[in-house]
Amino acid sequence: MSAALPALPFARPSLDETTIAGVADVLRSGWITSGPWVRTFEERLSALCGGRPVRAVSSATAAIEIALQLCGIGPGDEVIGSAQSFFAVSNMIEKAGATPVFVDCDLVTRNIDVVGVERAVTARTKAIVPTHWPGSATDMDALLALAARHRLRVIEDAALSFGSRFGGRFGGSFGDVTTFSFHPNKNLTTIEGGAIVVNGEDEAKRVETLRFHGIERLPDGTRDVAFPGGKFNLPDVNARIGAGQLDRLDALLGRRRALAERYFERWRPGTGCLLPPRPSPGDGATWNMFCVLLPLERLTLSRAAFREAMQREGIGTGVSYEALHLTTLGRRHGGREGQFPNAERIARETVTLPLFSDMADGDVERVCETAARILAAHRR
Ligand SMILES: *Cc1c(COP(=O)(O)O)cnc(C)c1O
Repeated sequence: MSAALPALPFARPSLDETTIAGVADVLRSGWITSGPWVRTFEERLSALCGGRPVRAVSSATAAIEIALQLCGIGPGDEVIGSAQSFFAVSNMIEKAGATPVFVDCDLVTRNIDVVGVERAVTARTKAIVPTHWPGSATDMDALLALAARHRLRVIEDAALSFGSRFGGRFGGSFGDVTTFSFHPNKNLTTIEGGAIVVNGEDEAKRVETLRFHGIERLPDGTRDVAFPGGKFNLPDVNARIGAGQLDRLDALLGRRRALAERYFERWRPGTGCLLPPRPSPGDGATWNMFCVLLPLERLTLSRAAFREAMQREGIGTGVSYEALHLTTLGRRHGGREGQFPNAERIARETVTLPLFSDMADGDVERVCETAARILAAHRR
């Protein structure tokens, strides 16, 4: 590792002093779990989502679990999702007692193949869970039309894309159900946390019950439980952080986009890597990660060796994501090698490069230069 250069992680949250002071105020207030800050945070999220009801929860994983329950998904049902997504999606489908059905994704945008979704629909299909990837948006018009034709629910996994616009429309302001993640690596953070956007106040009330033990308040001041809810509420401390992040949302997203554009400008030609889709002016895409595919068959080093070489130069990288149909869980549902070539190739070759809003322009240059040097030294 070069002694003069600071270690560069692949993700890091950006928390300003106003937010940190605001958190201290909440800690001193005597009310630290779900309360007024959660309501404020939810109202502000709802305003962004065109006034649709939004409820904050403890993670996107919880939001997906609640969304599946809300949609009445259970044993005997099939739920279609992308083979390129995070484990939370197939885990929560399985936990609901339903069967995850995988579909391949596009090699460059990584979004779910809508034609493949159409082919995967059976009489048992109840819902589709598309995952939106950084840099481009799922074709929601096509997917929502398909869902309407087959009477399916659509749960958008927008964990990686909070703040994205689809043809000018804020993600979550249209469609069916949308889930967001506020994990520290995502576009906006509450430390851990997430949110769910639903259709109307009846569904919002149901989410409130599902996120808190299934408790319903009776007129006589006692409580009842009719079904087992979870414990997925977001504390006020976390909601205060989220409100502070929303104050800076445009700046945080704008900086991520500028850094992504810088990657496209500075990435060395001739590395043989496949880059994400290049942004076009006004496309509304957000950039949570910058993932490239390594040309492994033209290299004498493995992906693990490349990542170690980057780490030795003080540059952290990630792997987003493994192919879900090839996990042990996915294989129990018939997942096998060769089934979804794009998802599998991404799983083998992808490397997530550093991208977070407090990164300096020079950091991008350093990543591009270091990667190009390592790749050039290991060409076949
Ligand atoms: C991070 C992530 C999740 C889960 O988010 P948590 O808030 O950590 O539960 C779900 N889906 C995708 C695509 C993710 O990247």
